[in-house]
Amino acid sequence: MDRATLYRARFLLPISAPPLEDGALLVRSGLVCAVGSHRQLAAAHPDAALVDFGDAVLLPPLVNAHTHLELSDYPRWAAAAGDAGQPRDFVDWILRLVQVRRGLSAAQLHDSLAAGLQQSLCAGTGAVGDILTSLDAISAYRPSPLRGRVFAEVLGRDPDQVAGRLLAIEGRLAEPPAEHLAWGLAPHAPYTLSASATDRVFAFAERHALQCSIHLAESAAESRFLANGSGAIAEHLFAAARWDAAADPAPGCSPVRVICRQGRLKPGDLAVHGVQVDGADIELIKEHGCCVVLCPRSNAALAVGRAPVAAYLAAGVPLALGTDSLASAPSLSIWEEIAFAMTCYPGQASPRDWLEMATRGGARALGQQARLGQLDPGQEASFQVVALPDRPALAELEEFLCTSGGNLRVTHLYLAARNVLPEC
Ligand SMILES: [Zn+2]
Repeated sequence: MDRATLYRARFLLPISAPPLEDGALLVRSGLVCAVGSHRQLAAAHPDAALVDFGDAVLLPPLVNAHTHLELSDYPRWAAAAGDAGQPRDFVDWILRLVQVRRGLSAAQLHDSLAAGLQQSLCAGTGAVGDILTSLDAISAYRPSPLRGRVFAEVLGRDPDQVAGRLLAIEGRLAEPPAEHLAWGLAPHAPYTLSASATDRVFAFAERHALQCSIHLAESAAESRFLANGSGAIAEHLFAAARWDAAADPAPGCSPVRVICRQGRLKPGDLAVHGVQVDGADIELIKEHGCCVVLCPRSNAALAVGRAPVAAYLAAGVPLALGTDSLASAPSLSIWEEIAFAMTCYPGQASPRDWLEMATRGGARALGQQARLGQLDPGQEASFQVVALPDRPALAELEEFLCTSGGNLRVTHLYLAARNVLPEC
């Protein structure tokens, strides 16, 4: 049997239990064997090798449950295209994004995705729910140790175009994107897919047992378009895409209601954003067994409103966090997402709630709960180490972590007992 290793830090945050001081993790053969007081574990296992991280906190890796890593070079591309200003509104932002993307080569998208994967690791992220549009960039995932899921994106209102896209995705499903990344499917949003295309995409996901991730209830423009077919989406987005808004009658209800219809969202699917919802929508999401992925910084940048975090928590809707892409958020750091959320949603969720969403909640959202998200015996030894030069007291540790954002320095990131933190 392999020799055990004891990983010790000033603080240990198992997530499944309250934080403790002078904590340690006993690891053997890549798995956590015990979690607890360093003194007790060292006495019980005198032969174990010791790795002492000193004044630091040891906790599970973060999970970025919604991102578009292929857009990680977006700020550079937008600047080169002379498009660095603030978008006028949500639809203007989409149109600019489409415009900037149009001029990119496959190599640019590949390199941008590779850079996003590295930035994620540097931020202490161990698992991602990544949306992929450029199937040709897929080889960038191959060397990555990240866990999670790659959701292949589908959008369009032309049935032949959607069918062709699903065929292209089907051709990729035999092989996972990387050793630890599985496939999922991303129907883009209820306004970029026609009713028949939406049914077709969800049926494809069902047939291939693929988890779905959909942008849902993000903006007031989306709600208005689905309610009565009017507004900026009909006037500007459909005109630019040469889609016929009159070809498909507006469903006349909320985005959540549209996507919770028979045969669409299934238990375990991800509803991303969930900003423009009322109490009935929240109940519907809960009944359908879906998880909401919150992207607070992206919502603020696009001025689409704030998700009702306290109402979701009160209703028992599972929550996770995502950064969305660098086209709408300033970084791929979930630590920075948490710090922003603390100021954006004062009093709606505790530091412990935010840490839960960013670790165990995200792991559950991506079906990774048996591998990471908490530190319990039997799990893979996946954890990060964050330096603590300011030495907070144990009672202030969670608040300190949640408010420090970009000031936190991740010094190690272990996935299944291997330190995978690159040069950052
Ligand atoms: Zn997104």
